[in-house]
Amino acid sequence: MGLIKLLVLAVVVFAGITLWRRLQAGRNRQGGAAASRNTPETMVRCRRCQVHIPQNKALRSNQDWYCCDEHRDADHDD
Ligand SMILES: [Zn+2]
Repeated sequence: MGLIKLLVLAVVVFAGITLWRRLQAGRNRQGGAAASRNTPETMVRCRRCQVHIPQNKALRSNQDWYCCDEHRDADHDD
């Protein structure tokens, strides 16, 4: 009887360690994914040609975004 209890205890401990390791691995994976993802780039649309460009590469004029100086200036000439 004592041997069976010991066996059950060993299984419980083994299962606990396995579960704990999985949780640790999952946490590490999530952390790595979050770090590599960085901040997602916001895409904006050029008011003139409707092309989508990252916001950090776009030119802003009032409330509108443009892909280049030409389109920004052209839109202002209208
Ligand atoms: Zn454009």
